[in-house]
Amino acid sequence: MLLLVDLDGVVYRGTEPIPGIADLLTRRSAAGDDVVYVTNNSMWYRADYVDRLRSMGAPVSADRVVSSPRATALYLREIDPGLERVLALGGPGLGRELADVGFQVVMAGAAAELVVRDGMDRFEASGRPGAVVVGLDPELSWERLAVAATSIRAGARFIATNRDPIYPTERGLMPGSGAVVAAVEAASGVTPVSIGKPAPLLLVEAARVAGVDPRDAVMIGDGILTDLQAARAVGARCVLMLTGVSSRADVEALQGPNAPDAIAADAAELEAALARLSAG
Ligand SMILES: [Mg+2]
Repeated sequence: MLLLVDLDGVVYRGTEPIPGIADLLTRRSAAGDDVVYVTNNSMWYRADYVDRLRSMGAPVSADRVVSSPRATALYLREIDPGLERVLALGGPGLGRELADVGFQVVMAGAAAELVVRDGMDRFEASGRPGAVVVGLDPELSWERLAVAATSIRAGARFIATNRDPIYPTERGLMPGSGAVVAAVEAASGVTPVSIGKPAPLLLVEAARVAGVDPRDAVMIGDGILTDLQAARAVGARCVLMLTGVSSRADVEALQGPNAPDAIAADAAELEAALARLSAG
């Protein structure tokens, strides 16, 4: 069985592992399940997750981490094999993921300096990007926004890693990728293709990595509006965990076709749910 496993709120919460989950995933993997981690977070590179998940004892390799930047890179490669130059407005992980699949990546920060110094002509003369990819950019500035929007107006595809408006941190709720995407959308007048959950493409790319039809996968997540919606969008089953953002009351209020296939409050309940789903 292919398990598409969300990270924050399922495997860990912030820096704290959720008890028993890494061990359970190790047992499922040893018994033949394929475990692929899926996350909307657009900031980090796959190796960052591999180190973190290994330190928690979870089964992982770099090709089994499909973050929204990784899925975006795989998606762009697939739909536009001739695409060479991509402008990235986002964190360090986004540029690395795009470069890994062979794109020539221009970070909006570097391009923005050219705009300020020499005007847009200079930037465009150095090669127009065929696509603009936008995620969470913690150093967002008016100049970066201008470079992204101008490139889109000049005809580049506009792809968003995800549209989560809010990013939860230890310091509280901070602006997420969706806030940056909304600014570029407003400035360019173009609505992007969005890869992350609740849209289906993140799970489609994750299932493709495993060579499995997404309809045969089980999504394990904690978000009703993200994980459950995305699972429904690709026809996958879904176990909703109560270890993250959703409360039991929220989840039990979902009735009929809107309800998840199972609810799990902890690793033991998840184990029982997966045993049931693999038998059925
Ligand atoms: Mg989550």
